[in-house]
Amino acid sequence: SRTVWINGSWLPEQEAKVSVFDRGFLFADAIYEVTAVIDGKLVDFDGHMARLRRSCASLSLACPWDGEALRALHQELIQRNQLDEGAIYLQLTRGDSGDRTFLCPEGTEPTLVLFTQAREIVNVPQGIQGIRAITCPDIRWGRRDIKSVGLLAACMAKQEARRQGADDALLVEQGFITEGASSNVFIVTPDNRLVTRPLGNDILHGITRGTLLKLAQELGIEHVERPFTPTEAREASEVFISSATSLVWPVVAIDGVAIGDGAPGPFTRRLRERYIAALREQMA
Ligand code: PMP
Repeated sequence: SRTVWINGSWLPEQEAKVSVFDRGFLFADAIYEVTAVIDGKLVDFDGHMARLRRSCASLSLACPWDGEALRALHQELIQRNQLDEGAIYLQLTRGDSGDRTFLCPEGTEPTLVLFTQAREIVNVPQGIQGIRAITCPDIRWGRRDIKSVGLLAACMAKQEARRQGADDALLVEQGFITEGASSNVFIVTPDNRLVTRPLGNDILHGITRGTLLKLAQELGIEHVERPFTPTEAREASEVFISSATSLVWPVVAIDGVAIGDGAPGPFTRRLRERYIAALREQMA
């Protein structure tokens, strides 16, 4: 069984319990982070912790653990669970406020939970062969830049994708793709420009997205941050999604329409390979 870290204790997963009055459970008054682990090492850790601080600040949620303490917790969890490849999930809630009350009483102690998920990241068919996506309306709230645990709309979109025989969903608002249900979205236009939606309150500021834009810059790939429509995506030469646990997954069909020739394209493959090489260098 896995070891879980919960509020200062290392416990077997069966014994790690959270109160029914915890605000994460009652109100989704909580934020989270997911950091990939490859070759037993944390990927883009500083970026994930910087975003955690930002999410905390947006919700006036005090995080009693500093960056070094959080790094030590992540590293100890990797060791205890002998994690070679997978992810570390961190959730910070405003805590157990003793009853169901919207306004949190002063002095409530936050709840911090960390656990590991062993899974393959590099050698997965989705990364190599690509995935099929649907488009569906983005019905989420207005502060998607805060990595909060209210993920009902994302669960519904993924369920709808499965119902339609696809792998994932791209979300559409006011005629433009915002992001994937749990990823950012990039397209490569027929004139070989990499395009992704600019940062704002309407998307999560993906750490992987940021790293990929830097790599594109280094590789001399022309890139622009602007919104794009589902039609432009369907007619793009390449489409891919990015996230910590997928890195880069080519999207080979949208709503049953093949993208390009229906196979992962050269820009997507190059960025994926460069990213994997870069994170292995960064760790060496
Ligand atoms: N957007 C959404 C809605 C997500 O859930 C995620 C993954 N957590 C991302 C984008 C990608 O972010 P990151 O690259 O930091 O994992």
